[in-house]
Amino acid sequence: MPREVEVKSVLNKSKRRDSWFLSEYTINPYSGCGFNCLYCYIRGSKYGSNLEQSLSVKTNFIEILERQLYNRAKKGEYGIIVLASATDPYLKIEKDYKLTRQALEVILNYRFPVHILTKGTLIERDFDLLHKIDQTAILPEDLKGRLKQGSIISYSFSTLDDNVGEIFEKGTTLPTPKNTAIDIKKGVSDGCKPNAFNPLDLRYHRKPGASIFNI
Ligand code: SF4
Repeated sequence: MPREVEVKSVLNKSKRRDSWFLSEYTINPYSGCGFNCLYCYIRGSKYGSNLEQSLSVKTNFIEILERQLYNRAKKGEYGIIVLASATDPYLKIEKDYKLTRQALEVILNYRFPVHILTKGTLIERDFDLLHKIDQTAILPEDLKGRLKQGSIISYSFSTLDDNVGEIFEKGTTLPTPKNTAIDIKKGVSDGCKPNAFNPLDLRYHRKPGASIFNI
C-alpha cells in the first residue's frame, strides 16, 4: 500500500512557458511513480532508486488544488496545466484513489486547459472530462488563435517492442499500439510528436490519420 501524505501546495507555476509541453503549471497527485521505468529522470533524486517503493498519495490534493486554481482563475492567470510532471497520472492506484479524475473535474470547473502526459491506459476512463475541457478551456491570450486544443494528450512510450518494454517500462502497459490509449478515432488525440525524453519509434507516424502537430 502506498503511504498517504498531506501537502501544503500542489500547483507549481513555472517562470516561463515550457516549450515542449506549452505549459505554465504542473500538478502531481502522487509522489514517486508505481510504473518505475528504468530510465525515469526522477530516479535517484529525492524519490530514491525504487520509485514504486517511494510512492505516496497526496490525500488533501483536491482540496488544495481547488483553492489554488480558484485564486489563479480569479486573477485571470490561465495557462496549460501538465498532469503530471514527476509521476504518472494514471497509475494502477488511480483506479481506487481517483485523484486524477477529481483533479480534471476541478480543472474543468475553473476552465483551465490541460496537457496529460501518461503511459497508462486508464486515461480512457476520463475521455468524457477531457472532451469537455477541450471545448470549454480558456487559453492564455497569446495562444488563442494559434492552438485549437484545450485538452492535449501525450501518450509516452519509448519503444513499440514489447520485449524491450518489459525491460525498461515493466510496470506499465505493454507498449504495442493496440495496447495504448492512442486512438485517433476517439477524437481526443490527433497528433504525434517525438521528443527528446522518449525517442518515439517513428513507425507510429504510419498509423492512418496520425499527424505531427507543432506550434
Ligand atoms: S511513467 Fe513516467 S514518471 Fe513514471 S517512472 Fe515512468 S518515466 Fe518516470
